Amino acid sequence: MERILVSACLMGRKVRYDGAAKTSNDAILATWRSEGRLVPFCPEVEGGLPIPRPAAEIEGGVGGAAVLAGTARVLTTDGTDVTGAFLAGAQAALAVAQSFRVRLAVLKEGSPSCGALSIYDGTFRGRRTPGQGVTTALLELHGIKVFTESHLPDAATYLQTLTQ
Ligand code: SF4
Repeated sequence: MERILVSACLMGRKVRYDGAAKTSNDAILATWRSEGRLVPFCPEVEGGLPIPRPAAEIEGGVGGAAVLAGTARVLTTDGTDVTGAFLAGAQAALAVAQSFRVRLAVLKEGSPSCGALSIYDGTFRGRRTPGQGVTTALLELHGIKVFTESHLPDAATYLQTLTQ
C-alpha cells in the first residue's frame, strides 16, 4: 500500500508552537486514515524543539531550499537561531518517509517546516510569501511530492497515478 506522510498537527496532535493542533476533518484524509495509509510526523518536535515553543520564521522569507543550502537561517521571535533543529527535523522526516517508501505527503501550509506553497516572510507580522518550508524542500529534493491540506483532491488524483 502506498503510504502518505502527513503533518501530525493535521491529525489532531497538539504539536504546534502554541501547543495546539490544526485538525483537518477532510473526508479524503479520513479515508486514508481508515485505510492505514497515513504516517503522521512533526519535523519540529522530532528535530528537538519543545511544545510549546517560540514562533519561528525563515529569515527573509526566502524558503527552505536556502536553509538547506546554508544561505538562510530559521529564527525565533527573539532572534534565537533554530536552524539546526529545523534541519534535523527535515532529515528525520525524510528518513521516516523513505523507510515507508513514501512518494506523497500532505503537509500544513504556511509552516516554516511544512509549508508547500507559502511561508511567512520573516518579519513576524503575519505576512505570507510564496515559498516552501525546510522539510517540504528536502522531501521534494528527494522526489516526494508535497501537497497542502487545501489541495487534498489534487493529492488524491496524484495517489491514483501512483497506484495505477
Ligand atoms: Fe504541524 Fe509541521 Fe508545524 Fe509540526 S512542524 S506543528 S507537523 S506544521
